[in-house]
Amino acid sequence: MANNQAVLQMAAALNGASRLLLVAHLSPDGDSLGSLLGLGRALMGLGKLVTVFVPDGVPQKYRFLPGADAVVVQAERLPRERCTVVLLDCGEWQRSGLPPEPFAAFPLLNIDHHRTSTGIGQYNLIDKRASATGELIYELLLALSVEIDQEVATCLYTAIVGDTGWFRFSNSTPKVHRLAARLLEAGARQELVNDQMMTMPETYLRALAVVLGRLTTFCERQGAIAWLNWNDLQQFGVTASDLEGLIDYPRSLPGVQVAALVVEIAPRTCKVSLRSRQAIDVSDLAAEFGGGGHARAAGCTIPDSELDNCVSAVRAAMERRLRHA
Ligand code: AMP
Ligand code: MN
Ligand code: MN
Repeated sequence: MANNQAVLQMAAALNGASRLLLVAHLSPDGDSLGSLLGLGRALMGLGKLVTVFVPDGVPQKYRFLPGADAVVVQAERLPRERCTVVLLDCGEWQRSGLPPEPFAAFPLLNIDHHRTSTGIGQYNLIDKRASATGELIYELLLALSVEIDQEVATCLYTAIVGDTGWFRFSNSTPKVHRLAARLLEAGARQELVNDQMMTMPETYLRALAVVLGRLTTFCERQGAIAWLNWNDLQQFGVTASDLEGLIDYPRSLPGVQVAALVVEIAPRTCKVSLRSRQAIDVSDLAAEFGGGGHARAAGCTIPDSELDNCVSAVRAAMERRLRHA
């Protein structure tokens, strides 16, 4: 259970706001979208004026989520009136994609579970033991005495299966399984979630083929790295959000302790996904490059750098960690 005091304080702060702007991180995933849309729907049920901002747009595989068609994608379309900004599933303002003007001057609440998050809001609910931000949203909704309907349950179920890899990762605690059971009892549409999230567009499979072709191992196969360049992304017509899950393949090799996927998401800008087994804390490794995340899953975005340089720098940092593991 998250710190009860923090849950109650955050619930009171949400209750006290009448106009809210919910935002998560760029390249949205299941946890950020499920948390945004689940909390958004619940707050609307409490009579609040809620705007959900998804600057990269909702990836195809998450369009089934209730409320996905009502999100604001362009910053110019956001209402400018003073409101309470709620930052979910991320602890850094830059990762929200929200323009500073006028939003940085508004009250800010921060709800997150990354170990590198320090809590940048006036009130913060940061619990690194939580498997997903969706788990914290569930506790908040209980504190707010909101009824969890089928739509909210489906959103939160998506959040949890997203960040636990369908209950495969080490964050899949007994508590997560109990929570999943409650969400299913509330009517979460498990089959729809699984079907939509497991659908792999042809573009994804083509990108996967290229990644597998470039997979390189080092340090006696304990390290694995692969990459995609900007041309690949354009050729396949994919964006970083469409590539969620690709990093699982390099990590799946036997004996691999640390794996990286470097994607040139714009010319000379590289997004790095990092995954590990017990020996290595990749949130520290990501922090070396200005990023963050969890011990077993982390990432960073490296600006103003050629892809080759990013790949070499990340590989060198991985080698250093492996030598000292
Ligand atoms: P990804 O590889 O994009 O799935 O990200 C893995 C984990 O690292 C997620 O929990 C992300 O939220 C986190 N993460 C990714 N990029 C960054 C970044 N630039 N700064 C902080 N955390 C990040
Ligand atoms: Mn996330
Ligand atoms: Mn998350």
